[in-house]
Amino acid sequence: MTDPHQLVVLNPATEEVVATVPAASAEDVAEAVTRAGRAQTAWAALAPADRARLLRRFADTVDAHLDELARLEVREAGHTLGNARWEAGNARDLLLYAAGGAERLLGRQIPAPGGWDVTFHEPLGVVGVIAPWNFPMPIAAWGAFPALAAGNTVVLKPAETTPLTALRLAELALEAGLPEHVLQVLPGHGAVAGRALVDHPDVAKIVFTGSTRTGREVMERCARLVKPVTLELGGKSPNVVFADADLKTALDPSSFLDNAGQDCCARTRILVQETVFEQARELLADALAAVVVGDPADEKTQMGPLISRAQLDRVRSHVPADAPALRGTAPDGPGFWFAPTVLTGERPDSPAAREEIFGPVAVLLPFTDEQDAVRLANDTPYGLSGSVWTRDLGRALRVSQAVRAGNLSVNSHSSVRYWTPFGGFKQSGLGRELGPDALTAFTETKNVFISTEGPAL
Ligand code: NAD
Repeated sequence: MTDPHQLVVLNPATEEVVATVPAASAEDVAEAVTRAGRAQTAWAALAPADRARLLRRFADTVDAHLDELARLEVREAGHTLGNARWEAGNARDLLLYAAGGAERLLGRQIPAPGGWDVTFHEPLGVVGVIAPWNFPMPIAAWGAFPALAAGNTVVLKPAETTPLTALRLAELALEAGLPEHVLQVLPGHGAVAGRALVDHPDVAKIVFTGSTRTGREVMERCARLVKPVTLELGGKSPNVVFADADLKTALDPSSFLDNAGQDCCARTRILVQETVFEQARELLADALAAVVVGDPADEKTQMGPLISRAQLDRVRSHVPADAPALRGTAPDGPGFWFAPTVLTGERPDSPAAREEIFGPVAVLLPFTDEQDAVRLANDTPYGLSGSVWTRDLGRALRVSQAVRAGNLSVNSHSSVRYWTPFGGFKQSGLGRELGPDALTAFTETKNVFISTEGPAL
């Protein structure tokens, strides 16, 4: 039974209780929004260089606690230590990038007859950030830090299962000298605290990262108040492998096993040209057998557990024990373990090939030629990311243009760099985070015309 008043954080690798945290009520959210509104005026009034200085000091404080933050992420989310260190580093780096953005958030002067015309970027006010459990630290950072840099204050609601790193980041912000209530973290249930944040009339924008189902509801609620919303939602990304590719690198299973497959960018549809299909199957079988699954705090571990029993049940429901598949191994328990799996008997229109499973599971499908590859790659309601592997430059460019997704990589599995835009096409979302426009997404554009022909000013 879910306790409405508290959240129990479990270590997903052991099922031991890591912490219990009070769950915010709707009243708690309303009070936090009021405090954030009061703090915002002074925060926005700071000279950009002073705001940037505070954010850089925050980055230094995060850096000084990098290992502590990473180990907290390992305990609450089951991420491997290497990945968790990258995540804490990503939060630090984004703070530095956003600090620079604060100093370069410039308006424009546009020629207009009879006066001067000036365009400003004004902060929105209080921004609500709702984060998922799969990358608790970076996703909290992506929503909150550019918003802060642009002069907004932030109320952040982490996911029920993973509130600890976000809470620690808020403590470190205070330690670094950010004013009180500029960054508030309120752990709570989605249906209570999440909805209260979305529905609050003084929250000027919502940044939501999570499932497409919840994202749809958040968007509907925002629509009632005509509230801007950024949605970072689900994915079912293709890994398109042509016969001329470097097959071993292209089929590296980390492309769908990172974070035990609980990655919105996971390349979970492995599309392989039919002439090298059998070779690909053999390479994948060997690679899966070699994946080290186990204690995420061990430096040698390559894949940790799933986040929860509910997630384990969900993954199992998509993968019957007798489904034709290539499989690795995983511990029995305690902990929420699922072996790396590539389903080999699916059709392109089967649920496992179309729905986001959010576990260490991919489907392997053949294609005939370039046209067939593009058709299959696009045959999904999602459009978040994907990879194309070929040595033919013309084909790489044609396929990248034809695949409808927000973040594609050619001969690479990388999707996320804090200095390039990130977000989805189709039902993977709305709007972009990160990159050069990250700060302007948290501003209103105001145009002021000053007449030089009216009465003297
Ligand atoms: P979820 O939708 O269940 O929950 C996400 C967050 O929303 C949580 O904080 C939750 O408490 C809150 N929430 C739940 N119901 C709510 C409501 N009615 N109103 C307001 N808030 C509510 O998602 P999840 O299971 O935590 O995360 C996994 C999903 O996130 C996957 O679908 C994954 O693809 C997606 N995701 C997308 C991206 C991206 O950038 N596109 C990144 C990471 C995760």
